[in-house]
Amino acid sequence: MADSATANKPPTTHPYAAGELVLDAIPEDERLWVPMTDGVWFRPLMFNTVQGGWCHLIRVRKAGVVSRHRHPDPVHGLVLKGAWRYLEHDWVATEGTYIFEPPSETHTLVVDEGVGEMITFFQVTGSLHYVDEAGKAIGFDDVFTRIDLARAHYEEVGLGADYVRNFVR
Ligand code: FE
Repeated sequence: MADSATANKPPTTHPYAAGELVLDAIPEDERLWVPMTDGVWFRPLMFNTVQGGWCHLIRVRKAGVVSRHRHPDPVHGLVLKGAWRYLEHDWVATEGTYIFEPPSETHTLVVDEGVGEMITFFQVTGSLHYVDEAGKAIGFDDVFTRIDLARAHYEEVGLGADYVRNFVR
């Protein structure tokens, strides 16, 4: 029932539109961080199953190489905490740095000694392909493999596998 204050306002969201997402990006609940490898986690924000891709935070709490991979599709990043670099480039991303990674970019993320913890927001389009030293593809991730990883983790920590649906659009 519309009262006089809302009666003349047009709806701001189409009834067929996907639900909005408003999240505490860096959560109190540690269980929301999905472990990937030793000292590396991702925190899902939005799994985009329609366009293919996802938004997440990456958190690294150890020094060293995180992964080597190729992006066939564009990536945007914004460093929220700490610092890191790619072996293939001569710049260092620090708190507040925005990064655009064009399609074809292949890189190896490194966190240097003394950083302690880095947290970076990434919007990943499409998929990413893990590659060996020669650039040969040895595996991949896309929105569905990431959903599966998160599902398994949320099940294991007692949130329930379907908790991942909170982030799926
Ligand atoms: Fe990357």
